[in-house]
Amino acid sequence: MKEASYYTRENGKVRCFLCPHNCLIAVDKRGICRVRKNVGGKLIAETWEQVCSLHFDPIEKKPLYHFYPGQTIFSVGSVGCNLHCKFCQNCEISQVGVDEYPFLHTISTEEIVNKAVSIKENIGIAYTYNEPTVWFEFMAEIAKQAKSQNLKNVMVTNGFINPEPLEDSLEFMDAYSVDLKAFDENFYKKITSSWLQPVLETLKTIKKSGKHFEITNLVITNTNDDPDEFKEMIDWIAEELGKDTVLHISRYHPTYKMSEPSTPETTLNLFFELASKKLDYVYLGNLHSLQGQNTYCPNCKTEVIKRTGYLTEVTGLDKVGNCESCQYKIIKYRI
Ligand code: SF4
Ligand code: SF4
Repeated sequence: MKEASYYTRENGKVRCFLCPHNCLIAVDKRGICRVRKNVGGKLIAETWEQVCSLHFDPIEKKPLYHFYPGQTIFSVGSVGCNLHCKFCQNCEISQVGVDEYPFLHTISTEEIVNKAVSIKENIGIAYTYNEPTVWFEFMAEIAKQAKSQNLKNVMVTNGFINPEPLEDSLEFMDAYSVDLKAFDENFYKKITSSWLQPVLETLKTIKKSGKHFEITNLVITNTNDDPDEFKEMIDWIAEELGKDTVLHISRYHPTYKMSEPSTPETTLNLFFELASKKLDYVYLGNLHSLQGQNTYCPNCKTEVIKRTGYLTEVTGLDKVGNCESCQYKIIKYRI
């Protein structure tokens, strides 16, 4: 356990400023994320050095398709989340606190970095599985040490974070995989217990910083699958973040508190077509499909990266990530 950052004291309570919930927490109580607790007037980050999973994963699993394609990344997760998505695929770790999950184990920041450097093919560390915003202090300490070892840092996030910690994270993060769950405040409120605007601000801040980022949109049957709303979201992405923004359209399957049927392939294919009219790099995830897997040069249409499941083959890029056929810049980060 460690004293948290980003809080103030208010008459014996503490106010956490890590995410837009800005929870006011009484003594012996926790915030909405269940992992930040007022202990005797101090805000404690209970997830400090507490992990639920450590795995070497393909970077494509985060998903990041334009950041060191085909490479491995050491992935670390803990417990808790500041959102309560009814479709959460990781609810067993995201909707619990440290004393509600029996498989947590203690590991120091140094040990995590040592594991990450133990495999020479590994490019860095991803903070993922549950929402890393809620274990910000632990993530920041690992990331700073990882950076000093020339490892890359990747944050897989819902984007519901306050501007100050987000700005601080830009100092040590190299890339972000951000969920944009819908383009509708009602959806965010009813289905995730949060709101949309801070997520849009997060995306704009990351874009402005020049750091790499990719967006994932999970399309849920009868919930956020209105084509007009989707088109509005795509227009916003193209205008505010640029047509070169990488978008992963992901298939939903019933889980946790959502029982709507799996997203029909026809919907995903339609959304793929709609997004591809405005954005250069659109992919389909959670789906066996020939469409939306490979990367094609937006300029000359040559296939430059071929993907089969998590098997990634760079087929048409030169050493600096340009299209071999027409020299168009496609990937800024590759080995
Ligand atoms: S990080 Fe947790 S405690 Fe802090 S404001 Fe967000 S939900 Fe509340
Ligand atoms: S933000 Fe992610 S981890 Fe958190 S509840 Fe939603 S889907 Fe689960």
